[in-house]
Amino acid sequence: EAAINRIAAGEVVERPASAVKELVENAIDAGARRITVTIADGGKTLIRVADDGCGIAARDLPLALARHATSKIDGSDLLDIHTFGFRGEALPSLGAVGRLKITSRVAGAEAAEITVTGGRMSEVRPAALGPGTTVELRDLFFATPARLKFLRTDRAETQAVTDTIRRLAMTEPFITFVLKIQRDGDERETFRADAEQGELFEALSARLASVLGREFIQNAIPVEAERENLHMTGFAGLPTYSRGAAVAQHLFVNGRPVNDRMLTGALRAAYTDLLSRSRYPAAALFLNCDPHLVDVNVHPAKSEVRFRDPGAARGLIVSGLRHALAENGH
Ligand code: ADP
Ligand code: MG
Repeated sequence: EAAINRIAAGEVVERPASAVKELVENAIDAGARRITVTIADGGKTLIRVADDGCGIAARDLPLALARHATSKIDGSDLLDIHTFGFRGEALPSLGAVGRLKITSRVAGAEAAEITVTGGRMSEVRPAALGPGTTVELRDLFFATPARLKFLRTDRAETQAVTDTIRRLAMTEPFITFVLKIQRDGDERETFRADAEQGELFEALSARLASVLGREFIQNAIPVEAERENLHMTGFAGLPTYSRGAAVAQHLFVNGRPVNDRMLTGALRAAYTDLLSRSRYPAAALFLNCDPHLVDVNVHPAKSEVRFRDPGAARGLIVSGLRHALAENGH
């Protein structure tokens, strides 16, 4: 059982950034208004995600760590995913690859904590915490040095964690995201996106400006398109906008950041003839559709997607972007 957990864990947790992604998604699912991530040594020695969400009842702490235990799906339809995580894999996987401690408090109840090391669970103990959940993962891959060797420098892992938080922050404008880096006993805030106000579109624009830079939004074309039950909204960088590579491409499917060849290929195709080959079209595009029309969980750690009708998704991106670019004189 411990060995099975470790193998499965490798699928979910490739590096600190993938652990951060799972934990922040859990915090989002829990209705957090504020999520604070703290890491040390690129996340190799410490990853802490603190939220002010609904919390986990003390008696449910062992359950949250059981493989395939999830409070988010009833098992009747695996494709009908409305919350992010649905596999019930993340916490047991993290407990298999590092020293995991979950402290949690449901409003009106006492706080409690549980620890897991090498897949072995402690008793539930009383603890002190405000309402919400704090998950701490220390010494990632300490029991599997072979995996540790595959991690990159602290600097590269810190960058990957930062990118992960930036992407998630782009999808949730009403949540405050903070990243802190611990070093030599000091703590430094390196990223912050304060909760935005107002209607969704305004909030989203403000959040994109805060994460990608006001310059990008000011120089981008708003995109809005629909095709065969697929909807696309967001911002596309002007072909003449030269900081494209720095801003890069951010694609989201049903609220999840994805990194999918087919989609980036479509984005590139839309700009053919407008961009020089060395330039990346900067963009932040949100594709939405009925969850039955797309599988966003092709692989737990990779963010590929599989559309039931890939041609329609590609067509929407290419025609939607070309139309928006043409309307703006490109
Ligand atoms: P999943 O997210 O796929 O359900 P996880 O292993 O990530 O699986 O989490 C297991 C369960 O633990 C969740 O279904 C949820 O009930 C609970 N949980 C995890 N993280 C949090 C959190 N930050 N706040 C509240 N509940 C949480
Ligand atoms: Mg989860």
